[in-house]
Amino acid sequence: MSSTNNEAGHQADAIIVGGGLSGMAAAFTLAQEGLTVTVLEAKDRVGGRTHSDPDTPGGPLDLGGMLIGTTHDRSRLLGETLGLSSVPARPSGSMTYRAEGQVVRAPDGGYPDAVAGSTALDAELRRINGLFDELAELVGAEGPWDIPDHAALDAITVESWLEENVTDAVARRIVRTDLNIIVGADTTEMSMLFWAQYVAKCEGMRALQVTANDALWLGGSQQISQRIAELPGVTVVTGAPVSSVSYTRDSVVIESAQGRFTAPAATIAVPPSAANAIQFSPELPLARRQLQARAPMGRESKVQVRYSRPFWRDAGLSGEVFDLDLGYLSLDVTRPGDEWATIVAFIGGKDYDAWFALGADARKQAVLDSLHAVLGPEAADVLGYHETDWPSVPYTMGAPVTVMPPGLLSKIGDALNAPVGALRFAGTEAASMWTGYMEGAVRAGEAAAHSILASHKTLTAGTV
Ligand code: FAD
Repeated sequence: MSSTNNEAGHQADAIIVGGGLSGMAAAFTLAQEGLTVTVLEAKDRVGGRTHSDPDTPGGPLDLGGMLIGTTHDRSRLLGETLGLSSVPARPSGSMTYRAEGQVVRAPDGGYPDAVAGSTALDAELRRINGLFDELAELVGAEGPWDIPDHAALDAITVESWLEENVTDAVARRIVRTDLNIIVGADTTEMSMLFWAQYVAKCEGMRALQVTANDALWLGGSQQISQRIAELPGVTVVTGAPVSSVSYTRDSVVIESAQGRFTAPAATIAVPPSAANAIQFSPELPLARRQLQARAPMGRESKVQVRYSRPFWRDAGLSGEVFDLDLGYLSLDVTRPGDEWATIVAFIGGKDYDAWFALGADARKQAVLDSLHAVLGPEAADVLGYHETDWPSVPYTMGAPVTVMPPGLLSKIGDALNAPVGALRFAGTEAASMWTGYMEGAVRAGEAAAHSILASHKTLTAGTV
């Protein structure tokens, strides 16, 4: 253990609350500069919303964050620096849609007009994506949020915006399902300003829908956090939920289930809703408290179904399925070296609510029936079925990202990542780009670490 222990508690140069990817990226950056870092993690493992199971029959599975985007440079660099390799994630072939029980193969990555009998659907969906991109450009990835255009967008939900701007009922339904999957919340629950900013932070609709799903880490994404935990200078204390944080401008005292920890600075690398369960003294500024109290995590399950081989490829199918009846998006995430092939499906938001209420057996049957309908009869020959219900994972309580209702983003200013005394805030939610993704987690962790390093240098200079 590189931190020291005395009556004041364990001491380190910096403490990180939360051993998810963001906290671990912060720890990596600080340790690279020679600081001692103690990471306090509530769970019995690091990785947070990244969780890989290396021992699943058929090959490793990623139960949480998994896909790497083409522009996810910081997380790619971090993974590669730690010795990981990535492989392409998108096999070629046609995408398949299911709506009202009807199965339609998509032409060349476009939307099939034949979905539910609608015509010119592809053109309409491209128009809607174009409007989202325009709003994203108007809003931008970083504030200010309180200008008139932004306030107006923050006064409505995405659903209200759809009602105003989209008459085609099928197109509306596709957009709803898409957003339920992307952020794990329904269009009726989400501020239009929040969504426009999300699109801006993620480089536009094409990046969100296509290029964000470009590659996979061999062996799984949790390995990044696990490898950082082994590095000199980094001490990870698991089973250490933090209950209180007392801070001044240049000191922090943290109480956890594993004792007291002190340092000149700390990074809070937990999602806002998890930070709301921590007692801060003195109280955090009002905007930060509002963020923590009013922005919930989305809700999403990840289902992975294993087959002896990727039989859908024989029929020219990519394994990518958009099922409007059940409300899921699936992908073929079979990695080289896997003994079995894998289809992953994401079910989020309102679609998650309806599907989850079915009960375990009926949920499984609904997914398998759908795959049978869209991929063909061989889909009945299932070798493994794995459901990861993130809303019931302690200290995470949802997936994949924090969502804001109307009236919050335009009021909280820079509370997502503004320093407060000796505290910095990280986590993918604090990222200026690629919030909601592993890339955002890494970028926010690095930014918090650089801010601590800057003040550490000032303090060190002051003591010489
Ligand atoms: P977290 O991983 O949530 O880490 C926070 C940590 O803080 C957790 O370990 C938690 O246990 C801990 N904690 C909470 N409260 C306390 C406390 N009081 N004291 C101590 N510790 C505490 N991203 C992609 O880029 N590609 C994908 O394909 C992708 N798919 C996803 C699929 C699912 C199902 C999920 C859940 C996420 C997905 N993501 C994906 C998102 C990505 O995984 C996250 O953005 C990223 O992992 C978040 O990391 P983080 O460190 O910010 O937060």
